[in-house]
Amino acid sequence: MARYTGPVCKLCRREGEKLFLKGERCYSPKCAMEKRAYPPGHHGRQAQWSRSRESDYGAQLRAKQKARRVYGVLEQQFRRYYRQAIKARGLTGLTLLQILESRLDNVIYRMGYASSRSQARQLVAHGHFMVNDRRTDVPSMQIKPGDLIQVRQGSRSKTLIKDLMAMAEERSTPDWITRNLKDFSGGILRLPERAEIDANLNEQLIVEYYSR
Ligand code: SF4
Repeated sequence: MARYTGPVCKLCRREGEKLFLKGERCYSPKCAMEKRAYPPGHHGRQAQWSRSRESDYGAQLRAKQKARRVYGVLEQQFRRYYRQAIKARGLTGLTLLQILESRLDNVIYRMGYASSRSQARQLVAHGHFMVNDRRTDVPSMQIKPGDLIQVRQGSRSKTLIKDLMAMAEERSTPDWITRNLKDFSGGILRLPERAEIDANLNEQLIVEYYSR
């Protein structure tokens, strides 16, 4: 289960915007985008995030990188999702986003059971969740409408899980997500529509990037 292990806040600074990869910290003054609002690297301070002179290729590359970073997916996996989206019926860009949104780690994040996708990923990797009554440690598992996601019985008494469930009460869920806080469960009712997915992602540019 390969994943990016480098400095996370650098990714936001590279993209020039908050990608909200670190949960609560992203909303605090400790956020690196508040303290060092310039690109990373030696010449970062002098450099601008100006995209005015960016080539078409540059814009497509940035759009693809941003989506990869938001969902925490490495290049190979992301390309596989793209190939899957091409083969499916419907708009390739939207299908790609729906595949990303259907990942188990993302669904747990959307249910409000984790403060970030990376935390959701870690919870799954540590075996705290079951899908359709079977324990899983695969964060990339694709969730279909009707699948039942539950916190494992043995994990429910753990302080971390109790704290996360208490925090989940404060978080709202999108319309395509269902959750039952009383029995630590949830799932998806249907695939999200475009308007229900982060507006700052540009799926058209991603499709253009891979169609070159
Ligand atoms: Fe990005 Fe969050 Fe780090 Fe801020 S704290 S730079 S939003 S990952």
